[in-house]
Amino acid sequence: MAKPASSAVPAGRDARLPRWLGRRPGREARRFDSVVIRGAGIGALICAARLARSDAFAGRVRIAAPRPRPGRRLVNGCTLRARTLDYAGAALGVPAETLADDLFGAERHKASTWAQDFALAPPHPGALDLRGPTPWMEAEPGRPLAYGLRNGHLVDRLARAVDLEVPFADTLAPSLEACLDQAPGDRPMVLDASHEPLSDVPAPAKPERFVVASQVPLRRRDGAALAAGHSCIGMRHRDGWFDTGVFYPFHDPLTPAADFYGIFYRIVRAGAPGFDKAREIAAMREIDEAFADALGLDPVDAEATRGEAMVPCIPWSDVTTHRADYMDLFRTYSACTPIITGDGMTRGALAGWLCAEALLAGEDPVSATNRSLRRWRSANRNFARGMTGLSRPLGAALRRAPRLVLRPVAAQPHMWARVA
Ligand SMILES: Cc1cc2nc3c(=O)[nH]c(=O)nc-3n(C[C@H](O)[C@H](O)[C@H](O)COP(=O)(O)OP(=O)(O)OC[C@H]3O[C@@H](n4cnc5c(N)ncnc54)[C@H](O)[C@@H]3O)c2cc1C
Repeated sequence: MAKPASSAVPAGRDARLPRWLGRRPGREARRFDSVVIRGAGIGALICAARLARSDAFAGRVRIAAPRPRPGRRLVNGCTLRARTLDYAGAALGVPAETLADDLFGAERHKASTWAQDFALAPPHPGALDLRGPTPWMEAEPGRPLAYGLRNGHLVDRLARAVDLEVPFADTLAPSLEACLDQAPGDRPMVLDASHEPLSDVPAPAKPERFVVASQVPLRRRDGAALAAGHSCIGMRHRDGWFDTGVFYPFHDPLTPAADFYGIFYRIVRAGAPGFDKAREIAAMREIDEAFADALGLDPVDAEATRGEAMVPCIPWSDVTTHRADYMDLFRTYSACTPIITGDGMTRGALAGWLCAEALLAGEDPVSATNRSLRRWRSANRNFARGMTGLSRPLGAALRRAPRLVLRPVAAQPHMWARVA
């Protein structure tokens, strides 16, 4: 990988970025001489990319996980807030614009969202008579709000950025000890960026809440209710809480017929009496495709491309189960409820980049990443409340004045569009 001279510091008010950013400390300020990263997702690879192109850690980074081999199925997030490319670009040392070109090439317009709509469905299944879609947020000229991509496409681009510099392992390291064994130095830092537990680190508390989700690539019909270049947030109140969905312009070179993707998800209590995982996921699949149909979107090769998941929620507070030489990076950037606000990739990119910068500056990576994520964490928490305990008043307000209710979000374009 080429070593650009400096790393631009992305501007913007979404993250609380530390004052020491960009300052180059003396060698003695650094507490670690090597880094082992356990995981090969977005947070892991962005952190590895930044460290690998620094003089301090070049040749001293290991990934204690196999190189990712993504397939066509929509596993993990697909709404890429454009802001994410600022942080990924800073880590890779390339302009965000170059990264967008790499990811989308001549198809960038197909993957770009320029305005966001809102639509509300009636409470129960059957023919979906949507209220909306109504636009509520618009991009500034030249700055799309988001891109739609297959998560694995971005992961693959990031893996190629580190391929020559950072060795991958054959299997995921099962323990902290196994990570330390792979360290190419005497004073290693281990960053755990995987959701698989480590056998020799105390397990986090068992989650009570999960998010169930079903997502699929789509193709827009002529005359569709949802305009090209617009995305749509959809909600349906069911059994006291909200099912929520998003539909975004999308491009994937492995499924070129698709020009949108759509996901529906719901927060669930897995221990609740009568809870049935398969039934909850089937309900998400059904509403996802019914809502897509009402918007004028058809599934593309659903059996081979549809992704479904039930992933645990993480406590709202800062993660504190770290040690001096070990950080639970994954749980730090997962920040509460996965999936629901379409910002997991942004959080992973921000935290991965900032964690690397902290190690380079001899600063504490735990407090730097925790502080930087505060705004994201509170947005996530507020939305989770809106989907669950506050869903009745929120539903009533959204029925009456959706644009007014959503105005505080629309007033934060820096949390969507690129600002660097
Ligand atoms: C179905 C789905 C839809 C999503 N939609 C979006 C989106 O539209 N936009 C966006 O920015 N982010 C979204 N996310 C989150 C996003 O994929 C991740 O936050 C992001 O990829 C950063 O994680 P990673 O790649 O570094 O780590 P990875 O290890 O690759 O983790 C990726 C995702 O896997 C989930 N996961 C799967 N199984 C488990 C498990 N057993 N325990 C804990 N976590 C698990 C995590 O919650 C995380 O979201 C979504 C995640 C899922 C699963």
